[in-house]
Amino acid sequence: MAYELITIPCLSDNYAYLLRCGTTGEVAVIDVPEAGPILAALESRGWTPTQVWLTHHHYDHVDGLPDLLTAYPAQVVGAQADAHRLPPLDLAVAEGDTVTLGNLTAEVIDVSGHTIGHIAFHVPAAKCAFTADSLMALGCGRLFEGTPAQMWDSMQKMLKWPDDTTICSGHEYTASNAKFALTVDPGNAALISRASEITAARAKGEPTVPSQLSTERATNPFLRPADPGIRATLGMPTASDADVFAEIRKRKDNF
Ligand code: ZN
Ligand code: FE
Repeated sequence: MAYELITIPCLSDNYAYLLRCGTTGEVAVIDVPEAGPILAALESRGWTPTQVWLTHHHYDHVDGLPDLLTAYPAQVVGAQADAHRLPPLDLAVAEGDTVTLGNLTAEVIDVSGHTIGHIAFHVPAAKCAFTADSLMALGCGRLFEGTPAQMWDSMQKMLKWPDDTTICSGHEYTASNAKFALTVDPGNAALISRASEITAARAKGEPTVPSQLSTERATNPFLRPADPGIRATLGMPTASDADVFAEIRKRKDNF
């Protein structure tokens, strides 16, 4: 399946994305932190977006929408559960729904935790998923509204995706996430080498997002509460995965 995926840095540390069906040329914009860089990315390619997919209502994911819609009157897709505080939606979706972009199909899943009603879009044919502030590179979003158990439930849904899924998350937080990850998983060789790659990439001003799910599985502590090394570090050898996840999240909040 032909497709193109473009990452667009926005604001100080946000990312927006463009996904284009290579067969029909239809384009979706995923999250709109600000319009300027997104309009520039569209114009330089001569692309006209027909859809905007919103992951959650926070300003740093929606504030550029009015200016984008002035330039391109696209269909706005977002969560039914978040509709009361999202910009006006043309299509309100919930877990289990699909969104069609040309020959590509996105599966909507509820990944509540950071906010209630945060959704992710998984596009199997393009081997990518838009996770914003749920699953992030070496991290997960802060729990502003949901419980740790809810976020762990969301993480488990994302763990079901194939290893070669490109995780398109919402922020360049990876360097600080790596520093924290090393405190709970200090013996993880894959994490140690990823952390040095991240340091090198950031020193050159290169993005560390998106990332591969296989890499997250091996190194992201928020996907690894069952890991014996992490459990030994936390002194929680027999706790439930949900409780270990909650402890990791609590430590990150206080890091
Ligand atoms: Zn957010
Ligand atoms: Fe955000």
